[in-house]
Amino acid sequence: MLEQGLSLAEIGRKLDLHESTVSYWLRKHGLEATHRAKHAARGGLSRAELEPMVEAGMSASQIADLVGLSKTTVRHWLREHGLQTQWAKRRTASNERREGMMLRCPTHGETTFRLRGGAGGGGGYRCARCRAEAVVRRRRKVKRLLVEEGEASARYVATTVASRRSSSIT
Ligand SMILES: [Zn+2]
Repeated sequence: MLEQGLSLAEIGRKLDLHESTVSYWLRKHGLEATHRAKHAARGGLSRAELEPMVEAGMSASQIADLVGLSKTTVRHWLREHGLQTQWAKRRTASNERREGMMLRCPTHGETTFRLRGGAGGGGGYRCARCRAEAVVRRRRKVKRLLVEEGEASARYVATTVASRRSSSIT
């Protein structure tokens, strides 16, 4: 079955065994899954190596550049260790139309990201705190503009009244 290029999961299904059981017996007999062997030959990536890079928010291609391996190989090892990059997480969540999820914001750290325009909005995910702060900033700006506008019109009324008064006097 290995020679036929079957994966552990496929062998497991054929034999009605869990993938990990198949993996156990492969090791026991000194056999290796073919795609695993292929990727291992190109250079393995441990969970300990990958995890900090994933947590730092790096994409598979950024990791590939850093470690000098192909994107396919990096993706293989991410899968192997059950890790998901932020980009992959976003893609999955977006496909499932999930409204929010935990992601790392450069400003706020690990926090909730919400889908812009709510579920089904499809506007991408944004840090909820960054968004709230942007709303506050926008409100403050509008308020400032209104105040400035108010002061300007008050000044205008004052000068008009003053000039009318002076013209009626003369
Ligand atoms: Zn943020």
